[in-house]
Amino acid sequence: MQTVELCRGIILVEGERGGKYPSSNSLLVGEESFILVDTGFSLSPQAVKELKENFRVEAVVNSHCHEDHILMNHLFQDAQICCHRLDAPAVRSVTELNNRYFTPKDRELAKLGEQFLRVLLNLKDSKVDFEFENGYTFNLDVTKMTVLYAPGHSAGHCCFYFPREKVVFLSDYDLTSFGPWYGGTDSSLTETLSSVEKLKSLEAEVAVTSHRKDPIRGHDEILKLIEEYVSKIQEREKQILDALRGRWMSADELADLAIIYRRFPEPKDLFKVSERIMIEKHLEALLEKGKVKKQGDKFTAANDQ
Ligand SMILES: [Zn+2]
Repeated sequence: MQTVELCRGIILVEGERGGKYPSSNSLLVGEESFILVDTGFSLSPQAVKELKENFRVEAVVNSHCHEDHILMNHLFQDAQICCHRLDAPAVRSVTELNNRYFTPKDRELAKLGEQFLRVLLNLKDSKVDFEFENGYTFNLDVTKMTVLYAPGHSAGHCCFYFPREKVVFLSDYDLTSFGPWYGGTDSSLTETLSSVEKLKSLEAEVAVTSHRKDPIRGHDEILKLIEEYVSKIQEREKQILDALRGRWMSADELADLAIIYRRFPEPKDLFKVSERIMIEKHLEALLEKGKVKKQGDKFTAANDQ
């Protein structure tokens, strides 16, 4: 387990393999007793034990309900577990979380999804002791951590800001080259855009995300990376329109092109559902802008595109 002290009272816990899914980076906040932000830093109970021996964790704060952020919650039963009100049901229940990854027509794959979460990742139902809202502040002796409700990635996705230190934890607006993920039925493309836009107005000098190995330092650098990150959305939109030029295709057929994932991780069929849900959100936005036409379940680029 690697930790990096960002400043007094704020410690980054590097997730395994650079925080790549199904791991994610965590934060320890405090001095004598600590808040742990997210519990997916390791898939090994031994690593969790080690962290608990070195840091007295009194509360766990989940940035949102996804498995890679709540994976080890069950090993912190003696701590207070907190998350945003809208993601609490999916932290409490693996079945509820799994339902957010599938639409009713994916019923068969959803069974495989639940198995993936429960058996392969050993994800367990978790308690939630406290549900917070936007602007809630965790007051510690050494620092203050404010909740920035930033939905889009999930319904109750939050970032955390330390105003005095100008440090921000951006959670799954992770500023990786993959770009934003909005593949849940509770995700929203428009909310992702407006949440990320709001994050630009923070006076942050250090940004940490759930899946980037190193902290980002300097306000200009943070802004530059946010711009690059958001531009992925326009890039995807353009690629979808290119694929639909002179051709009628369904969201399923577009998902086969893996425009967003490029290569589906295993289990491929499950990640292809996330791709299709993201494509559907793009198609909805493109329809609204009059850039595509729809007939039955097929889409094509409008003539003047
Ligand atoms: Zn997530």
